[in-house]
Amino acid sequence: MTTEVAPVPVQGPAAAPASLPILSHWIAGSPVEVLPEQTGPIYNPATGQVIARVPRGGAPEVDAAVAAAKAAFPAWRDMPLIARSQLFFAFRELMWQHRKELAELITRDHGKTFPDAFAEVTRGIETVEFACGLPVQLAGMMTPNVATDVDAFTLRGPLGVTAAITPFNFPAMVPLWIYPIAMACGNTMVLKPSSHTPGATQLQAELWKEAGLPAGVFNIVYGGREAVSAIVEHPDIKAIQFVGSTAVGRYVYEEGTKRGKRVGAYTSAKNAMIVLPDADMELTADAAVAAGYGSAGERCMAQTLVIAVGDTADKLRPLMLDRIAKLKVGPGMEPGMDMGPIYTKEHRASVIRWIDKGEAEGAELVVDGRPFVHPANPEGFFLGVTLFDHVTPEMEIYREEIFGPVLGIVHAATYDEALSLINGHKYANGTAIFTTDGGAARRFKLEVDVPMIGVNVPIPVPAGYLSFGGSKESALGDLAMRGEDGIRFFTQQKMVTERWPEPGRRAALSLVFPGNS
Ligand code: NAD
Repeated sequence: MTTEVAPVPVQGPAAAPASLPILSHWIAGSPVEVLPEQTGPIYNPATGQVIARVPRGGAPEVDAAVAAAKAAFPAWRDMPLIARSQLFFAFRELMWQHRKELAELITRDHGKTFPDAFAEVTRGIETVEFACGLPVQLAGMMTPNVATDVDAFTLRGPLGVTAAITPFNFPAMVPLWIYPIAMACGNTMVLKPSSHTPGATQLQAELWKEAGLPAGVFNIVYGGREAVSAIVEHPDIKAIQFVGSTAVGRYVYEEGTKRGKRVGAYTSAKNAMIVLPDADMELTADAAVAAGYGSAGERCMAQTLVIAVGDTADKLRPLMLDRIAKLKVGPGMEPGMDMGPIYTKEHRASVIRWIDKGEAEGAELVVDGRPFVHPANPEGFFLGVTLFDHVTPEMEIYREEIFGPVLGIVHAATYDEALSLINGHKYANGTAIFTTDGGAARRFKLEVDVPMIGVNVPIPVPAGYLSFGGSKESALGDLAMRGEDGIRFFTQQKMVTERWPEPGRRAALSLVFPGNS
């Protein structure tokens, strides 16, 4: 790993503000201030310094947010669709104007590089653009004359108060994949973002206010376990979409559905890409390194296993090593960096334990990221990239999600063996195949038991107007988020059967089950 430009310290202790800014919950269209003792620290992972404080909310704050959302619901549900849509257009414009600021907040809180954060914001805005057009998608179907003087039609109505619980790793994009759809469908929203990376959501609340959103339609409560339990248990919350780890997602899904809520939980992952011997190896090496180490591997669609078929690894590994040698690791705001720090000190320690584990399990440690220290920011939560070869399905580093810059090469003798490895894994979020053989790619699309598939595309995140979601232990619930599934999730379809008799026409009284004639 090289650092070609002279490293500069980013804002560190000397530049730390005398009194730290405190974020506020956002309830009924206004910030709700909290006392410093009711807050926790937010770190800049590039410096290791505390830069702001975030409220630790619980049941009282969730109750207040739900009450505001419940009060706002009837008028929001009844607002003419075009007026609702115009608010989304206004919000979209404000988001576009502030996308640099949003990206800076993400880099500050999360550590990912500024261009990566900027791309995240842009992908999140795509879903807002989809929400602008929702009036068309909410149209029902009408069938006239299903019986004499009787017509039937469907309409999609909102559910009421809904909630989103989101992870640290996409502080803007993941909330934007959920709440605009919920709100455009006529629901009101309580968002509980990750407490580690709250800056970008706080700005969105202010932009909604500027766009003219009625108070109470969009609310934010910060907090951890207590706030999540209060959401799961609240009787007035009708539906929850959760994105995060499988352990927490399972709790939200089981406790939420037990209480009659509609719950979708989109959870952990361990994605693998198959490389066939006929693949374009230069393109594949770029893809593997980008997908494995982008955002320090803290992406649910990262490819963390490269399954090399036949003798592919012999060709691919040196090409990957060439690229790894040129990667620049440093503060995300520093131009030219490829990878920023890990988001917390604790998670950095966890990733290091996984590398220790892989070594102990007998995988070949080809590149070791553990010793890396950023020279100008030694307190930052930096880690270099790690490459293991000869990872096998028996190893825990094969089976479990690490969520860090750790990539493993797995050897498979044939395509069938590679496919059965992917289909046998407990996680199923994204996968990819690298090949120049269209027939092999076609077969893979039909045979692979993973819902999001790339062909020569390593991170096959569907566009903002399409649905996104995994299966097996990567998702709980029946519907994906966003797109068509997102609309289904956040609406209740009603079937109306309606009689308007011809003047003077009246059927005789009959107790027979009504027929359709
Ligand atoms: P996490 O499960 O720790 O946190 C997710 C949310 O749950 C946060 O809002 C957090 O405050 C809350 N939470 C954390 N611990 C809790 C507890 N004990 N009880 C109740 N609530 C709790 O996840 P994370 O570390 O923020 O995010 C990383 C995880 O998210 C990874 O597993 C990653 O694969 C997954 N993820 C999945 C997708 C997807 O679409 N499948 C997308 C992004 C991230």
